[in-house]
Amino acid sequence: MRAPYLHHRFPALRDTLAHVPLGAGPTPLTPLGAWASNGGAEVWLKDEGAFGDGDWGGNKVRKLEWLIPEAQRRGPRTILSFGGLGTNWGYALTRYAAAHGIDTALALVDQPVDDHVRAQLVRLRGSGATLHHTRTKARTAACVPWLLVRHVSRGRLPYVLPAGGSSAVGAIGYVETALELAAQVDAGTMPEPSHLVTAVGSGGTAAGLLLGLRIAGLRTRVVAVVVNDTLRLDAVALVRLARRAERLLRQRGADLPDQRLTVDDLDVTTDWLGPGYGHATPEAEAARALAAAHEGPPLDPVYAGKATAALLAMNAARRFGDGPVVLLQTNGPR
Ligand SMILES: *Cc1c(COP(=O)(O)O)cnc(C)c1O
Repeated sequence: MRAPYLHHRFPALRDTLAHVPLGAGPTPLTPLGAWASNGGAEVWLKDEGAFGDGDWGGNKVRKLEWLIPEAQRRGPRTILSFGGLGTNWGYALTRYAAAHGIDTALALVDQPVDDHVRAQLVRLRGSGATLHHTRTKARTAACVPWLLVRHVSRGRLPYVLPAGGSSAVGAIGYVETALELAAQVDAGTMPEPSHLVTAVGSGGTAAGLLLGLRIAGLRTRVVAVVVNDTLRLDAVALVRLARRAERLLRQRGADLPDQRLTVDDLDVTTDWLGPGYGHATPEAEAARALAAAHEGPPLDPVYAGKATAALLAMNAARRFGDGPVVLLQTNGPR
C-alpha cells in the first residue's frame, strides 16, 4: 500500500497521525484541450474524481483518509456531521465510515432541490446514516445538544465533524494531495503550475492545498472559487483553517518550516456563486456544456461547474500569466 507523502516527509507523524488508504494515488494529471485554455494559459486537470473505491470518489475521500483513523483514535462509535440535502460529504462519510465500523448521523439543511440533489437524497436514505432534517442553520445549531445526547454510544458522545469534513484533520487530506502534485511536477508530468483553481464549499480543500503547496516548496497560487454563501469562506477564514492544520501537524511532531501563511497567499473569488449555494448559474452551465462537447471532465453544477466557469473567464482575461494552470476536478463518479 502507498505510504502517505506526509509520513515520508515527517517520520514523526507515522506514530501520531494515522492514515487509512481509501483510494489510489497519484490521481491522473492530464492536459485539457484548447477549449479550457480559452486563449490563455495551458490547463491541466488533476482528477480527484478518480480517488476512492470506484463507486463513490472525489475530494471528500481524501479527507476521510485522515478523519476515520482520528475518529477511531478518539474512541466513539458514531460520527455526527452536517450538510445540505444533497451533501456529497455526508454520503462519502457514511459509506467509508461504515466500512470501518463507525456509524454516521447527519443533520441536513435545505438547499435548492434539483435532480442531482434528489438523487443524492435517495442515496443518503439508503446509506444507513441516521438523518435529521433540521432545515436551517439556526435550527441545526439549536438541535446540537439534543443530537449529541441522541447519538451517545457506548457511553461516549459522537465525534463531531463540521460540514464538508473541513476540520484541521480533514484539511490534512489536501496537504497530502499538494505533496502528491509536487511529486508529479518533480517527476516531469507537468511544469510547475502558476495557479491551481478549486471550488470552495467548506474550505478544507483550498486550505489544505494552500498549506501543502507551501510545504512542498511550490510557488503555485491557490485560486479559491467560493460556491457556498452559508459559511464564512473568505481569505481570512481559509488561512485560519490552513494555520490550524499547520498547528496540528506541529503538535503531532512534524518538523515544519515556518510558513507564515497570510491572506496574500491565495486568491479568493465569490464572482461565480450566483444567487447562492446550489443555485445554477448560466456560466457554470455553459462551462459544463463546453466540457461535455470536448469530452472533458463530467462537471457537477454545484462545485466543479462553477470552478471551471471561473477558470475559463480568468484564463480569457489572461489572469494566469504564462501558466500552466491546474483545475482540480473534485467531483467523483456517481
Ligand atoms: C465538497 C465538495 C467541494 C468543496 O470542497 P471543500 O473542501 O468542502 O471546500 C468541491 N467539489 C465537490 C464535488 C464537493 O463535493
